[in-house]
Amino acid sequence: MIERTLAILKPDCVRKNLTGAVIARIEKAGFKIIGMKKTRLTQETAGAFYAVHKGRPFYDGLVEFMSSGACVPIALEKENAIADFRTLIGATDPAEAVPGTIRKDFADNKGENIVHGSDSPENGKIEIAFFFSVKELIEVI
Ligand code: UDP
Ligand code: MG
Repeated sequence: MIERTLAILKPDCVRKNLTGAVIARIEKAGFKIIGMKKTRLTQETAGAFYAVHKGRPFYDGLVEFMSSGACVPIALEKENAIADFRTLIGATDPAEAVPGTIRKDFADNKGENIVHGSDSPENGKIEIAFFFSVKELIEVI
């Protein structure tokens, strides 16, 4: 099934000048970019995006990190996008990620792990709508 997923190139990715390298991997894997922007999250917006993790020990640090600099949200479309993107980025902790995955190759640690990916088709839709209006999404041609 054709699915949509939200990627976020996190502030560590931007700081390390790796946005181009990560986008190249995403495109090489067959994902179509249907929306992309550069923005900086406030603590409030970062907290709302990760609200599902509120109360977990890493939540405050995550909010701090995600609002620490610019990030690049990208709306992606592809057959089987959710699972295929999670495979492309690898495990949350780069130490546990498979070689050749984005997190294994570029991330420093479990918190600063370069890229976000949605975990279900439903959350993909919700998360894309968090960052993009319908008008900002381009049909795949
Ligand atoms: N995170 C963290 N410590 C943890 C678990 C998660 O710092 O023990 C951060 C990390 O940046 C991760 C994000 O919180 O990407 C969201 O966690 P989730 O379990 O949803 O991982 P993901 O879906 O990003 O692989
Ligand atoms: Mg997650």
